[in-house]
Amino acid sequence: MPAPRPFRTGTPRRVATLSVHTSPLDQPGAGDAGGMNVYIVEASRRLAARGIEVDIFTRATSSDLPPVVEMSPGVTVRHVNAGPFEGLGKEELPAQLCAFTAAVLREEAQHEPGFYDVVHSHYWLSGQVGWLARDRWSVPLIHTAHTLAKVKNEALAAGDRPEPRARVIGEEQVVAEADRLIANTDEEARQLVRLYGADPARTLVVPPGVDLDRFSPGGRAAARRAVGMSQDAIVLLFVGRIQPLKAPDVLLHTAARLLADDPALRRRLRVHVVGAPSGSGLDAPEQLQQLATTLGIADVVTFFPPQPPERLADHYRSADVTVVPSHNESFGLVALESQACGTPVVAAAVGGLPTAVRDGVSGVLVAGHDAGDYAAAVRAVLARRELLAAGARRHAARFSWDRTADALVEAYAAAARDMATAPARPARERLLGPLRVLSGVQVAR
Ligand code: UDP
Repeated sequence: MPAPRPFRTGTPRRVATLSVHTSPLDQPGAGDAGGMNVYIVEASRRLAARGIEVDIFTRATSSDLPPVVEMSPGVTVRHVNAGPFEGLGKEELPAQLCAFTAAVLREEAQHEPGFYDVVHSHYWLSGQVGWLARDRWSVPLIHTAHTLAKVKNEALAAGDRPEPRARVIGEEQVVAEADRLIANTDEEARQLVRLYGADPARTLVVPPGVDLDRFSPGGRAAARRAVGMSQDAIVLLFVGRIQPLKAPDVLLHTAARLLADDPALRRRLRVHVVGAPSGSGLDAPEQLQQLATTLGIADVVTFFPPQPPERLADHYRSADVTVVPSHNESFGLVALESQACGTPVVAAAVGGLPTAVRDGVSGVLVAGHDAGDYAAAVRAVLARRELLAAGARRHAARFSWDRTADALVEAYAAAARDMATAPARPARERLLGPLRVLSGVQVAR
């Protein structure tokens, strides 16, 4: 392994960002596109604004995609051919990681040595690619997990499939190899240490942000007109990919409970569900529609396809409460965006949501998934909505993508400093070194 090459200026010039399974060019809110896509887009833009070029490698999922797309000034998306364009599920992607890695290494090999200063991988599939790229290029590997299989498996919703052991093992390997792990919250950092044996000294908490220009309070009446709803409606909003983990069914049960307790509410109560299917189980909006019919609230529920950010902001502004009843959520950008628009949130007290929502100040956190508890929380928010709306705006203003980008630059620099000062481990030692036991599988290191 060649000697590590420190950044020339203390700030990296160019970052290779890896997003194997989902593209930053995809519309979030469907399939595999969600908060991670938003994170990569927003963080990359801010890094570019600091003079750091970002190349984002993602798998080509259509023959129509050009090999290279300039996403924004200084941010380039590179489409990598790895497996058939269409019809390949996320669970089939581990078999394509060699092809993906080869394409990334070949791209770098076309440039002068030392083209990339850092490799930043997102989700474990990318971490596997980044691990090899880091060894080849002698640059730091920064890894953001976004979700963790062991955490997800501890909080499975009914009908959800557990994450496979291959993913758990792959995550453990990436955690052991990464020079820095970026966690969204203290809770996620603790999970990385407790469940994956991460080194606390290499595990950093970098909260994600929110675009306060895009997600701003604005006029509620105008937003309601834009969304096509009456001014006196009471709107409960769900935004996100429709999957058991996000528990949109809990919101429908909550609405049914509110109507059972106060039938007069039926004239005004509306439930808006924004998003499209993802993953297994509650796959189709039709299944939610069916549940709404079974609960006798079909006339109250409206489904909207995934919305671009400017339209989404109108949905947040026009809602009385956004409900995030997820079984797990590594952060919950939707909760933050809603608050930035001045709409309080009722959320499950899981994962990153207690960080994203300040209980009693910007919304209400609920333990568990009992519809009666959510109905009580919704009523509590409606009773103090103006106060909580002000608290929501204040809380959201504490987060910013600029701060996220600054913290990432610091993490890149700290990892590079470590590499420059630590003696390089020879490649042979890396391959033949002491055997480590990961999940019962012996891995040479
Ligand atoms: N989103 C969107 N349009 C939609 C639904 C969702 O752009 O119709 C975005 C939303 O703005 C948020 C992201 O998708 O930034 C979802 O992130 P979150 O952290 O809430 O959930 P994840 O998808 O990471 O599980």
